[in-house]
Amino acid sequence: MPKIELIDVTNRDGEQTARISLAKIQKTVINWLLDDLGVYQSEMGFPLSPHEKDYVNANYELTEGDENRPPLIKQMALGGWSRALASDVEKALTQTRIRHLNLSISTSEQMLRWKFQGKFSRADIIKMMVDATVAAKQGGAITAGVNAEDASRTDLDFLVEFAQAGQEAGADRFRYCDTLGHDDPSTIAPRVATIAREAQIPVELHCHNDLGLAVANSCAGAVAVYDAGQDAYINTTINGIGERAGNADLVSCVLALRYSARWGCLGLLNNAIDLSKAYRLSRYTANAFGMEIPINQPGVGDNAFAHESGIHADGALKDRQNYELYDFEAIGRGDKIETTTGRIITTGIHGGKSGLEYVYAQMGLGFQDAEHTALVLKLVQFANLTTQAPLSPEELWLIYHYPEQVRMLVTLTP
Ligand SMILES: [Zn+2]
Repeated sequence: MPKIELIDVTNRDGEQTARISLAKIQKTVINWLLDDLGVYQSEMGFPLSPHEKDYVNANYELTEGDENRPPLIKQMALGGWSRALASDVEKALTQTRIRHLNLSISTSEQMLRWKFQGKFSRADIIKMMVDATVAAKQGGAITAGVNAEDASRTDLDFLVEFAQAGQEAGADRFRYCDTLGHDDPSTIAPRVATIAREAQIPVELHCHNDLGLAVANSCAGAVAVYDAGQDAYINTTINGIGERAGNADLVSCVLALRYSARWGCLGLLNNAIDLSKAYRLSRYTANAFGMEIPINQPGVGDNAFAHESGIHADGALKDRQNYELYDFEAIGRGDKIETTTGRIITTGIHGGKSGLEYVYAQMGLGFQDAEHTALVLKLVQFANLTTQAPLSPEELWLIYHYPEQVRMLVTLTP
C-alpha cells in the first residue's frame, strides 16, 4: 500500500526566509524534535555552504549511538538541498557526510526564458537533472529526489517527461514545487496524479502559501498521489515559516489529514507521526526564530482552545466536542507552565561555574569533576554566542549529553 509521509523543510526553506536565521545548535534541536515527532526526513540545509559542513557532519554523528548513549536522531533521514549540477552534487557528497539529496532545477517557460535568459533548452534541463542524479547515486547518495522548481507553471507533458527521466536515472522521488503558491486543490490534484501514474515515481508536494492554500494544496495533492498508487511526501515547515507567505504548516497538514471531513476518514498519513510532540516543537522553533506564533494558529496558537462568548463557553464546558474538533492533549498541550517573579539565575556567554552548576542542578544534571564543568561551561558560552538568545532547556541538555558534536556546531571557521 502507498503511504503519506512528511519531509520537513524548516531547516532549509524555512531558514532561507528573508530577515530570519538560526544558529546551528538551534537547527540541530529542531532535527531532534522532528525525529521525535516521527517525521520521515528533515531537509537540514545546504551541504555545499561552507558554514553548514560541520553542522551536517555533527548531525550525521548524532544519528549514531555508542556504548555510552543512544543516538539523538533515531529514525529520521537527514537530507540536503543542492542545485541539480553534477559538480555541486559531487562536492556535497565528498565534503560532507550528507547521503540524502534533493536536486533542484527550474522547469517553467517563465524561468527558462527569464531566469536562465534562454541559455538552456528543455533537453538541457533534463540532461543536467539526469547527470546530477547519476552523480548522486554513483557518489553514494542513499536517496535522491529531483525537484521541478515552478512546477505549477510548467507544461504538464514536460513535467511527466522530466519525472520519467529522473526515475530512469535512479531518482527516488519527484518534487512538485508550487514555488509561487499558484495552484489550487482542483489543479494540483489531477496534475500530480498524472505525474505519479505516468512516471511511476513517488511524489513530494512542495507548496507555498502566497494565496493561503499551501496546506489545502499539499493535502489534496498527497491524497491524489496516493490514489494514483504512489507514495506521497508532504514538504512541511514548523509554524508554516518559509519564503514570503511561507510553506505548508506541519501541524495544520497533520490535523487536516487526521480530522477533516473526508481526508480524516481515510487514515492515509503514517500513524507513527505523534502530534503530541508538536506543541513543544512549535514553541521551540518560534523562540529560535524570534517570532510570535499567531494566537489563532491551528493547534498551537494561544486561542486554539479558548472560549469566551456565552454560547461557546457553555457548550465547550458541557462537552468539549461541541466546539473543539480535536483535543488539546493530541497536540501535546495541557501542562501548567510555572514562571517566577523572583530571583533568576541564567548561564550563557558571561556565565561562570556556580551559575552553570545551579542551572543544571535544576534540570537534575550534575558534573563528574572540575574538568567536566569547565568543558560544559565553555560550550555553553560559545553556544550562547551563536544563538544570541537565552539558551533553552533543550539546548542546555544537548550541550551536556553530546559535547563533542556541540563543539562542531559552535565552531565557525570562515
Ligand atoms: Zn520552497
